[in-house]
This record gives sequence, structure tokens and C-alpha cells, in this order.
Amino acid sequence: MGSSVWYIARPGPTPEDAQLRIDELSAAMRAAGLIAGEDDPDSILGAAQGPAYRPGPRAEESLPPGYGRATELRTNGAEFIAAAIFNWSPLNVDEFTAPCCGALIDAGEIVDKLGTAAGVEKDFSDSAVTCPRCGAPSGVNAWAESGFMLAGCGVGLWNWQVMPEVLDPVRRLARETLGPELVEDGYKI
Ligand SMILES: [Zn+2]
Repeated sequence: MGSSVWYIARPGPTPEDAQLRIDELSAAMRAAGLIAGEDDPDSILGAAQGPAYRPGPRAEESLPPGYGRATELRTNGAEFIAAAIFNWSPLNVDEFTAPCCGALIDAGEIVDKLGTAAGVEKDFSDSAVTCPRCGAPSGVNAWAESGFMLAGCGVGLWNWQVMPEVLDPVRRLARETLGPELVEDGYKI
């Protein structure tokens, strides 16, 4: 079975107090029983961008009957990221619709620029990329069909069930600590 991550994040740019907010979210999720234990980098895939914890006793409390318990998986953790989050799933398309002029643009013409601006430069500006058709500048997230490519900070939920019963308790605490507006997106590996 493949693994997946679902980010619940604050829209960018990364605030100066990102570490404080992320620590508050982590503490609130621990107090609510949504995470538990010591920092466990093996609970997620790849190089952890912050401490990662396995789910707590209440993480799947509201999971409807018939759904597999994600907590039985080797990869199952919450990664707390107090820095820019690059989510590459919006890049995984054959064609983009330009946010400026509506032109359909073959992925080969723009995907490297978007990947560099979002993934390498972490450029939150409204002029991160230039449209290959009309020349207008735009931000990287304007090119995402849904979700986001770049967010300010947040939590990555590895192999958590992406359903309201499981995610709503995290969302509630994320709004209280990260800010009232959230963006969400993720990908499978
Ligand atoms: Zn354009």
C-alpha cells in the first residue's frame, strides 16, 4: 500500500511566530489525545521538517465502522512544520490553465518554473512566475487547480484517513493556533 500525506496549513508567507504557533498546535493536539509519545521520525516518510509524533488514543475516535485503523500502519504520524511547506501535487498534471489569461499551457513549458519558485525559492510573491503566453506575473498558488503549492506553516498528517470525522478535530485546533484561514492539500507516494 502506498503512503500519503495531507497538509493542514496556514496560507503563506511564513509568519515570524511560526514556531510558536506550531508548538501551540502540537501542544493542543497532544492535550486532545490526537498525538502521543516521543518525537518519532520513522512515523513519516522522507526527512522530517520538524518533530513527528504518532497518533494519540483519540485520533481515530470518530472513525466510522468499516474503515481500517491507520494507527496500525508503520508510517502514521503528524509532522509539525514551522516553515514553508511545498506541496508538489498541483504540479502533477499534463496541462495548466494560466491564471492570468486562461491559456492552456503544456506542463513542460511551466512546471520547472513553478517547481523552482515554490519548492526551491519558496517564493510567496505575486510575481513568482511569468506566464509563457501573455507575460503576466503571478503567484505560484494561482497555478494550483485546487489546494496549494506553497503554504506558510502547518501540520502534515501521514496516512491519516482524509475524512471529516478524523480531520475536523485537527482543523479546529489548527484554526485556533495557526489562524482562522487554512489551506489543505496532499499527495500519495
Ligand atoms: Zn497568461
